[in-house]
Amino acid sequence: MIQLKKSGSILFALFCASIITITASAQSDTESTPLQLKYLGAAGWEISDGNVVVLIDPYISRLKYGGGGHPDDDRPSFARNDVPVSDTELIDSIITRADFILVHHGHFDHLGDVPYIARKTGAKVIGTETTIMILRAYGIPNEQLYAVGGGEDYQFDNFSLRIVPSIHSALNDKHYFDTRRYDRNTVLEAPLKINQFIEGGSLMFLARFDHHDVLTMGSMNFVERDLEGIHPDILLAGVNGSRLGLYKYDERLLKVTGNPPIIIPTHWDNFRLPYGFSQEANVTRNLIPFISTVGDLSPRSKVITPVHLETIVIE
Ligand SMILES: [Zn+2]
Repeated sequence: MIQLKKSGSILFALFCASIITITASAQSDTESTPLQLKYLGAAGWEISDGNVVVLIDPYISRLKYGGGGHPDDDRPSFARNDVPVSDTELIDSIITRADFILVHHGHFDHLGDVPYIARKTGAKVIGTETTIMILRAYGIPNEQLYAVGGGEDYQFDNFSLRIVPSIHSALNDKHYFDTRRYDRNTVLEAPLKINQFIEGGSLMFLARFDHHDVLTMGSMNFVERDLEGIHPDILLAGVNGSRLGLYKYDERLLKVTGNPPIIIPTHWDNFRLPYGFSQEANVTRNLIPFISTVGDLSPRSKVITPVHLETIVIE
């Protein structure tokens, strides 16, 4: 039985960290340590089970770049060949500790703030070789860096992690395709330009916390055969428009992951808008249809709508 308690608006809260707590129960084991998931926007999360703090694609700066943005946003605008500037004051106000940082791929809205956060926290970073080469260019020590290709299943203290091969969203009406990779022979000089944050291949993660398995997505795409047998109790499901260009995305994703009891949409927002700006357009376009579809396809699954900087507590 899943219980959901919430207070206040869950959709359009202003920038007020952790005011609203959603409590849900994924399993009947009430002895387990609650899992806390704070939505950082884009594909970003801070997840803690009381033992470890794991960041996923922590992108806090939410720069106005690439032509996107809002007329009421008076921050500077960045072009893709500009050198970006992380909003370190904002990051410091949100991120205080991390043991691990998991990076799905190297694009700026996933990796852009990781150089600063990795240096600040000393967290171990797990990502593709491209991701790791970018972090090396920023001077992150090798001891913190774990390059993976997909298929690894690593045991750490109090935490284990299966790395799942994946593929990037089918952007540009399926014309997106980028085979570029950075490797040990690539010469990179930090700071990089936004367009030097290349994809470099894509991953998913099965993060096994105390009593909860979380399957994470950083794109609106997946390799079905690589998910066979992975049945998490919490799925962070990529829910943005490009998924509509895929064959039965929602149906195949729910089925192959075993109809997870809790599904939390991720990467559904407009990440070029600062925290506090309305995300109503993306809620309407992405979340409402997805929630309706899950209700039809997997009625026993509970979809929780995440709100920027608010914490979902799974008992
Ligand atoms: Zn991307």
